[in-house]
Amino acid sequence: MKPAGIYIHIPFCRSRCSYCDFATGLYESALAERYVASVISEIALWREVDPPEAVDTIYFGGGTPSLLSPAQLEGLMNAVRKRFDVSSHAEVTMEMNPGTVTGESLAAFRELGINRASFGAQTFDDRELARLGRSHTVADTRHTFSLLREAGFSNVSFDLIAGLPGQSLSAWLHNLDEAFALRPEHLSFYLLEVHEGTPLAGHIKSGLQQSPDEDLAAEMYRVMLERAADAGYVHYEISNLCLPGFESRHNTKYWTSAPYYGFGCSAHSFDGESRRWANERDLAKYVAMVERNASPLVEDRRLTEADRRAEAVFLGMRMMAGVRTGKFKELFGVDLGAAHANDLENFQQAGLIEFDGDLLKLTRAGALLSNEVFAAFV
Ligand code: SF4
Repeated sequence: MKPAGIYIHIPFCRSRCSYCDFATGLYESALAERYVASVISEIALWREVDPPEAVDTIYFGGGTPSLLSPAQLEGLMNAVRKRFDVSSHAEVTMEMNPGTVTGESLAAFRELGINRASFGAQTFDDRELARLGRSHTVADTRHTFSLLREAGFSNVSFDLIAGLPGQSLSAWLHNLDEAFALRPEHLSFYLLEVHEGTPLAGHIKSGLQQSPDEDLAAEMYRVMLERAADAGYVHYEISNLCLPGFESRHNTKYWTSAPYYGFGCSAHSFDGESRRWANERDLAKYVAMVERNASPLVEDRRLTEADRRAEAVFLGMRMMAGVRTGKFKELFGVDLGAAHANDLENFQQAGLIEFDGDLLKLTRAGALLSNEVFAAFV
């Protein structure tokens, strides 16, 4: 069995961004205290896999985990170390937002073993940040990034969003130049999605903001890959780039069928074989369930053989290295090329996929239209 990853969801933010539909709410110290106690208790009582195996990645996601105090994070880290066999070389990531940390808090996080920061830069344009309802400025981003470096964080990832309402190609190129100039080790890149029910969706409906332009967003993706390659970044997953050797070890588990166990509200888990399960999404309900010693699981699903085959393709092909069809046949007894001959030929002719020996890979054009390619395998 491959080593597992641990995901801990911290559902608090300083303010609510206009496009966000994650399971998060505003930070309140009393609720955060109860929530952390609940997650610690969930980890201590957890018996979904017994005995627990080795863990080599831990990921604090959210929300804005950096709003927690070092003491709260220490409680969570101790609970994980007590319950799991955590490698001394574990990658331990914390999502952070600009302006939510100080030199002292970062030094304390490092002491706890947090060695990677995933940093919500999003854009280097103050007007765009304001339109997104982000709670920080570009100056905050730069200041927090320099605090990270001073505190010894040598593995930092930036999140960037493209395709913002009213964003021009030249504004996007400016963002890329600013991001590359800081040389983060990793970049996660998203095209803005407008989710029903968010303030952004309301702004677009009422004409307050423009609808994102999909063709322009596609062009932004294309130029980003070109510029990133020129700047020495490797495009290793549809939405992720890194300097050589800095792939996210935790997120790679999601695409390679490795086990991962999620704690906290809305967290998802996978046993690395055929079982997926998920916790209650609502923060208050989650806390209430754990406080009365009930399991917070609300979904528990066994994958069929067909589910597993489909996942192996559409998750595996998210990695730009592709899927080995020989290995696929060994695992599932199915010849991928023969089973999907027509679709594969059509995609190949359209320039969306390519074969390199027995490796089936998305091309750059295919990465942008990946959902259409993956639909053929589901
Ligand atoms: S910081 Fe992230 S999780 Fe929090 S409201 Fe903004 S987009 Fe949502």
